[in-house]
Amino acid sequence: SLVGPMVIEFNMPVDLKLVEKQNPEVKVGGRYAPKNCISPHKVAIIIPFRNRQEHLKYWLYYLHPILQRQQLDYGIYVINQAGETMFNRAKLLNIGFQEALKDYDYNCFVFSDVDLIPMNDHNAYRCFSQPRHISVAMDKFGFSLPYVQYFGGVSALSKQQFLTINGFPNNYWGWGGEDDDIFNRLVFRGMSVSRPNAVVGKCRMIRHSRDKKNEPNPQRFDRIAHTKETMLSDGLNTLTYKVLDIERNPLYTKITVDIGTPS
Ligand code: BGC
Repeated sequence: SLVGPMVIEFNMPVDLKLVEKQNPEVKVGGRYAPKNCISPHKVAIIIPFRNRQEHLKYWLYYLHPILQRQQLDYGIYVINQAGETMFNRAKLLNIGFQEALKDYDYNCFVFSDVDLIPMNDHNAYRCFSQPRHISVAMDKFGFSLPYVQYFGGVSALSKQQFLTINGFPNNYWGWGGEDDDIFNRLVFRGMSVSRPNAVVGKCRMIRHSRDKKNEPNPQRFDRIAHTKETMLSDGLNTLTYKVLDIERNPLYTKITVDIGTPS
């Protein structure tokens, strides 16, 4: 039931009550599994989040139909950073991995920014034999990769691939670098990146101004130079946080977490 290229725009209001009606087979918490087959792809989609409800509405409106057409057995997890300290994308992704596994035996994790929408449903939101980079042709980079090692935006790792690299770093506070650190981790564990081609991989980003408390992290250049050592002691094995709230909404599960402050 895939349709190929799709028109994606962000100029209309989205009513989540309507999106619910348009996706009657999506179950509470944003769960879905195909009715007529058993999908081998048990995918938790993890979205790091703070104060971007408008973007989330577009994401849910566009992605639920696509993920169903892809016949995935999936669940949507919005990991909401509580408080006002510096944003920490990678730590929120680690938390999403750990929390989603408490719900279901997911074997694949798609990590997606809230403001990125694929323009072609042949771009599979699932795992491959190598870690997958999904957002390979973003409009903001002229529909191509900004550099060959780029692994930001939307990516997918199997449970095993994620465990092999000790998850993601917890120590990147503010914007930038954490995706490069993840790329380094994959390379240091002998993996390579799998990608769709630049036609299938086209996607749109919702334009926005920089969030407060997500300024570029000046330490990022120094940190990505040391991934090989730091990945041993910074990752899933050192992850600490407190779950403050779990909301099972009709179209997504929202987990609000206290992630602490930079040490
Ligand atoms: C940053 C990455 C970012 C990329 C594209 C790099 O300089 O380190 O985190 O994704 O630029 O904007």
